[in-house]
Formats: sequence, C-alpha cells, structure tokens
Amino acid sequence: MIPLLAKYHQLVATLAQTATNSHKPIPQLMAVAKTQPLEKLSVLLAEGHRLFGESRVQEASHRWPALKKQYPESKLHLIGPLQTNKVKQAVLLFDMIETLDRPALAQALAKTFTALQVCRPLLIQVNTGSEPQKAGVLPQDFESLLTMARQLDLPVVGLMCVPPAQMDPAPHFAYLQTLAATHQLPYLSMGMSHDFTIAIDYDTSWVRVGTALFGPRDSSFK
Ligand SMILES: *Cc1c(COP(=O)(O)O)cnc(C)c1O
Repeated sequence: MIPLLAKYHQLVATLAQTATNSHKPIPQLMAVAKTQPLEKLSVLLAEGHRLFGESRVQEASHRWPALKKQYPESKLHLIGPLQTNKVKQAVLLFDMIETLDRPALAQALAKTFTALQVCRPLLIQVNTGSEPQKAGVLPQDFESLLTMARQLDLPVVGLMCVPPAQMDPAPHFAYLQTLAATHQLPYLSMGMSHDFTIAIDYDTSWVRVGTALFGPRDSSFK
C-alpha cells in the first residue's frame, strides 16, 4: 500500500480506538494540507477522505477550485489567520472559517455574507495562552467578540485553539471546552499531530493533523 494511505488508515483507527477506550465521541480527521503537494491530496481524496484544512487563502485558491469540481462533497476549512482584504475570496473558497478573532473581521464577514448572499459556519479562534505573536482573540476579549458576532447574525458554531508549544495542552483544551459549553457552542477544533489524543479527552469535534499524516512540511513555511 502507498505509505500515505497506510498512515491515513492507521490514524483513522487510532482516533476511533482512543475515543472508544475513553468513552468519548470519535472526532473527524482533518487533513492539514498546507505546503503538501497536490498529489498527496489527490491520493486521500481518491481514497474517500473529504475533510481538509488550509492555512493560507492564496495557496488554497491555487488548487481547491479544481479539486472541488472533481470532489464536490469535499469540505475545506480555513485554519490560518484571515486578512480583511481576503474575506471575499475566503468565503467563496472555504466551507468553514475557524479563525474569526477580531471585530473588524466579524464586520467584514457579515458584510460579505450579505453582499454575496451566502453564509459559512464560523469558529472563533481563542489565544488560550495569551501569546503575543499568536492569532486568536484574547480570553478577556472573547465575550464581547461573541456578542458582536451574534448581533451581526454570524453563524458562530464553535471554538478553535492552538495551545502554546512546549506546554501541556490539556489545561488549554479544558478551558476551551468549558468556554464552548458556557456559550452553547457545539463544535471544538483542537488537537494537532503531537497532541490529538489528548484533545479527544476534551470532546474535540475534529483534529487537525498535518505532519503525522503527510510527513514534514516544507520548512520555509512559517
Ligand atoms: C499547521 C497547522 C496544523 C497541523 O499541524 P501538525 O503539527 O503538522 O499536525 C493544525 N492547526 C493549525 C492551525 C495549523 O496551522
């Protein structure tokens, strides 16, 4: 079997087994496609995999229109920061945007949904570690952002986070789970290659896996 497919099926089995052992819902696997060559995405699509994540609007716009034509049921999530000048392009390209993190972006999304007569489910990205260099709304600004998004009729359906590197992710996942429950937000996007088994303990809806599936990324990509 192609090594990528062997890894893919192994990952799917690990997710199911880990969740079942802990009496948790089995999360969906999101294949994080950034910087990975098109051939690898095609292998997974041909195998029946449908959920993918991309970090950059630009990169996704080069290959996903054609892939979506071939596989109309494929779903693409934006998991990287979104600039307001790329909102229109992003809304047309992605099925879900996981990185709403500031009032200006909420306003731009609302305006674009109205103008294009479309709508996309959204997650709010929370900077749970309050790291200065990281995207995501700060915990102390979360409630006002959610309130504003709801006033704008934006379909916020859940929360996303990337815990600080080199730290135990569990308290961050626990915090996000509690925050979502407090605000009746049903979906959580937590867990990456190195910590997805921990995210399962906190009821994540999907795990975002890149390197553990595809191997290392092009190191020039930040
Ligand atoms: C790149 C990326 C991932 C995947 O990271 P891996 O460690 O390669 O699994 C997940 N989430 C976000 C937001 C990313 O930018």
